[in-house]
Amino acid sequence: MPRSTALYFLQALKNNIREYWWKSMVQYHENIVGLDAAIFMHPTVWKASGHVDAFSDPMIDNKDSKKRYRADVLIEEYIQKTEDKISKEVEKARVRFGETFDETMYRETNPRVKEYLEKITAVKHRFYPALDRNDLADVKLLIEELGIVCPVSGTKNWTEVRQFNLMFSTQMGSVNEDASEIYLRPETAQGIFVNFLNVQKTARMKIPFGIAQTGKAFRNEIVARQFLFRMREFEQMEMQFFVKPGEEMKWYEYWKEERMKWHLSLGMPANKYRFHDHDKLAHYANAAADIEFEFPIGFKEIEGIHSRTDFDLSAHQKFSGKKIQYFDTEQNESYVPYVVETSIGLDRTFLAVLSHAYREEKLEDGSDRVVLGIPARLAPIKVAVLPLVKKDGLPEKAREIMDKLMYDHRCFYEEKDTIGRRYRRMDALGTPYCITIDHQTLQDNTVTIRDRDTMLQERIGMEQVSSVVSGRIAG
Ligand code: ATP
Repeated sequence: MPRSTALYFLQALKNNIREYWWKSMVQYHENIVGLDAAIFMHPTVWKASGHVDAFSDPMIDNKDSKKRYRADVLIEEYIQKTEDKISKEVEKARVRFGETFDETMYRETNPRVKEYLEKITAVKHRFYPALDRNDLADVKLLIEELGIVCPVSGTKNWTEVRQFNLMFSTQMGSVNEDASEIYLRPETAQGIFVNFLNVQKTARMKIPFGIAQTGKAFRNEIVARQFLFRMREFEQMEMQFFVKPGEEMKWYEYWKEERMKWHLSLGMPANKYRFHDHDKLAHYANAAADIEFEFPIGFKEIEGIHSRTDFDLSAHQKFSGKKIQYFDTEQNESYVPYVVETSIGLDRTFLAVLSHAYREEKLEDGSDRVVLGIPARLAPIKVAVLPLVKKDGLPEKAREIMDKLMYDHRCFYEEKDTIGRRYRRMDALGTPYCITIDHQTLQDNTVTIRDRDTMLQERIGMEQVSSVVSGRIAG
C-alpha cells in the first residue's frame, strides 16, 4: 500500500469509529447533547477534581535492567496470571468429566483451585488497603514476597515505590513572574462538569440527560508501551449522564448494557468482550466496571463505566464558590445531580478493530489472500469502482458511476492491473464492496457487486448501487 494511502486509511478508520460513536450517543439519543470544551482550563479545576493531589500511579524501578514499571500493574498481572491458572485447571477438568462437570462445585472443592483462590483473596486484601493508606513500603514488600521479577533482568532488585503524578504541566502567561502553572487535560470529563449549567440551561435539558464529548487527553504514563494501547497523548470519547440522586444504580446498569451492545454492534464476536467489575473504587465512584476486549496482548480495558456520584459537581461548586444545581420542576426542589459516565478510548478501539480484522486465507484454488475484515460501517473505503479493462469505453462508464457514488460513499477508483489483483488489493485494504464495470454494462447498465468476505458476485442495476451498498452497511 503506498504510504499516502496507508496514512489516509488509518485516519479514515479512526474518523469512522469516532463518527459512529458520536451518532450512537448524540444523534440516536434525544437526551444527549454534544460539547467541545477546552484542553487548557483554570488550574483550580484540577485541584477540585482531585487530579492535582491524587492523579498518580505508584512506580517502581528495577535496579539491574533500569526499567520502570507501575507497581500496581505488576501486582495486578500477578493476580491475572493466577486467575489464568485457575481457568486452565477448570478447562482441563471440563474435558475430563465431560457433561457431568459441575464448575461451581469444582471451584469450591478442588484443592489446587482453592489454594489459588485463597492466594488471590489474600493479595487483594493486602494490596488495595495498602494503596488506600498510600503505604508504598508495604506495596514494595508485597512485590518482594510474591516473588515478582523484572521481565527484562529476571531479578528482584527493586527500588522503593514512589507516587508519580500523571498530569503534564506548562506555563501560561508571557512574563515569567505572571506565568501560572496550567495542565493539559488528563481526561475530557472535567470540561463537561464545569460546563454543566451552561449546557443544561442553554439546551434546556431535563434530568436525566447526558453531555458527550470526544477529544485529546494527555497523561505522562510511567510505561507507555504496547503500541496504541497506552500512549501519552490519546483520544477519549466520553459521555456524562446526569441523574437524580438515588437513581444512579439503575442508570449505571442501563449504560453498562447499552455500551456492551454498542461494542457488539461493531461486528466482533461476543467472546472477545467481558466485564470486569472494580474491586477497588476510585475516590469519586460508588460503582465501576470496565469493558475488556481480548487484544493480542490479552484481555484489557477498552472502556470504563463509572458511577461518579455527585463528587465532581459538588467539588466544582465548592472550589468555584458558585452553585451548580439542577432545579427539578416536577419535585419543586434543587439538587446536585449524580453522574454515570461512559469513557472509551478511541485509539484502543481502533487497535481492537484493526488487530481483530487481519486474517490470511487459503482459497479453494490453492491461492492465498490477505483480508482486513473491518466491519463495513467502519471501513475507510466502502466501494471500489473498477472497469474490467482499460479500453472499449469501460473507464468512461466507470467514471460516470464513480462521479455519482462518491457523494454517498467513500469510493476508490482503479483501472491498473488484472481484476483479480485489484480485488486482492481491496481485500487487503478492507474494502467491503467492489463494483465492476464490464462490456455488459454498456448494453444494459448493470454492474457486478462483489462482497469482500464471501467473494460472491451479483449483477445489479447501476442506479441501485448506492442504495444496495447503504443497505448492506446498515446490516
Ligand atoms: P488504565 O487502567 O488502562 O490506565 P484507566 O482506567 O486509567 O486505564 P480511564 O481513566 O477510565 O482509563 O480512561 C477511559 C479510557 O481511556 C480507557 O478505557 C482507555 O480506553 C482510554 N485510555 C486511558 N489511558 C490511555 C492511554 N494512556 N492510552 C490510550 N488510551 C487510554
